Amino acid sequence: MTDHAAPPSSWYRDSIAVDPGPCLPLEGEVRADVCVVGGGITGCSAALELAERGYSVVLLEAGEIGHGASGRSGGQILPGLGTDMATVERALGQEAARDIWRLSREAVALTAERVERHAIPCDLEWGYLHAAVKERHVRELAEYRDRMARDYDYHELEMLEGEALRERVVTDAYPAALYESAAGHLHPLNYTLGLARAARDAGVSIHQHSVAVAIERGQPACVRTATGRVTADFVVLGTNAYQAGLVPELSGRVMRAANYMIATAPLSESQAARVLPHNDALSDANFVLDYYRLSGDRRLIYGGEVSYDGREPRGIQARMDAKIARLFPVLEGIPIEYRWGGDVAITLNRAPDFGRLGGNLYYAQGYSGHGMALAGLAGRLMAEAIAGQAERFDAFAAMPHRHFPGGSLLRTPLLVLATTFYKLRDRL
Ligand SMILES: Cc1cc2nc3c(=O)[nH]c(=O)nc-3n(C[C@H](O)[C@H](O)[C@H](O)COP(=O)(O)OP(=O)(O)OC[C@H]3O[C@@H](n4cnc5c(N)ncnc54)[C@H](O)[C@@H]3O)c2cc1C
Repeated sequence: MTDHAAPPSSWYRDSIAVDPGPCLPLEGEVRADVCVVGGGITGCSAALELAERGYSVVLLEAGEIGHGASGRSGGQILPGLGTDMATVERALGQEAARDIWRLSREAVALTAERVERHAIPCDLEWGYLHAAVKERHVRELAEYRDRMARDYDYHELEMLEGEALRERVVTDAYPAALYESAAGHLHPLNYTLGLARAARDAGVSIHQHSVAVAIERGQPACVRTATGRVTADFVVLGTNAYQAGLVPELSGRVMRAANYMIATAPLSESQAARVLPHNDALSDANFVLDYYRLSGDRRLIYGGEVSYDGREPRGIQARMDAKIARLFPVLEGIPIEYRWGGDVAITLNRAPDFGRLGGNLYYAQGYSGHGMALAGLAGRLMAEAIAGQAERFDAFAAMPHRHFPGGSLLRTPLLVLATTFYKLRDRL
């Protein structure tokens, strides 16, 4: 799904509550301090932070703001990374891992702060369940809770079982779940549009339908579109899975994986109370995980399934329908009104990939399905680095990343094979 065409039918697009203002395509030659490529959370956040620091900023978005993962996501806001903190400890040591954990918590706080400061109507709610599907998961979640309390001084995880769990999610499907009060969910497209609106108010020139087709590197750099050109001292790349070879050095460090979501018709108040009475978000502990939450108008927004070739897996809607009916018999027969997909960029170790090329091109990508909060922080850290304070950006950039094995031909088949293995393991 790396094209820049209109997204498939998404409930988010049908419930837009934020107008970022006119964002006409780029025409002609423009000079700026910074050219940001990509109008997702990474790009909008970087543009906002840079403009607030006094930089002149031009943002180019190939489609419309939120066209990529940011406008299609599950909207779940969590601290941490797409991988366990143990991966970071092994790569960088425990002190550095603690710094990264603290930054990931800042990412969540930053999200909440921006929603409030910029009055973004995106239905932000707190409360999160990490649900075990089998006994092995219960042990793993308990170990995780203990490790986070001991090594990271993090005490927001509480194991729920039996009635205490059913009070938060009304199903018998899970033997236990970790409840995390410091995580939550929001409407991802309205949040992204809210960041864009704030960036525009802060002086950023936003150009939609402006695909960056080439970046001429140098000091300054030039970013070209079909109808214009931006000359800038710095370039920030926030293109994530939608990059499509714009910066060839970055291909191979991330792989594109499509993820799918549905939205049911709105539930009645009494149905919602028999599903997620406290309006928490939930994800299960499988490797190819399912996740869900209620929207502001009480639809069940359910995500899961993955594909690596850009084609939607067959029968996805029927499978999701069956899962929902199994989890919540009270919802049997509720119509699914929307279905859409989006692309995530995954790295080999599932930690995000931050870095710079040639001294003045900054990038942050590969959040591995865990970027709703982190992408916002990435924008802030890139702005800090451009302003000369790079320590916090470099804490992430120090994370080593290997290219996916198999070269351009075998990369996808190898990834499919590995995922098949983990899917089978999920069934054991
Ligand atoms: C279905 C789905 C569910 C998800 N659920 C969650 C979740 O619940 N919680 C969570 O933390 N994360 C989730 N994620 C991941 C999260 O959405 C992403 O990590 C995050 O949105 C990445 O933001 P971004 O700005 O880096 O990239 P994107 O939002 O993908 O933005 C990249 C933008 O760059 C633009 N672009 C690309 N190339 C060019 C070019 N050449 N010129 C101009 N513009 C260009 C694209 O059009 C796109 O708008 C999910 C992702 C998907 C797809």
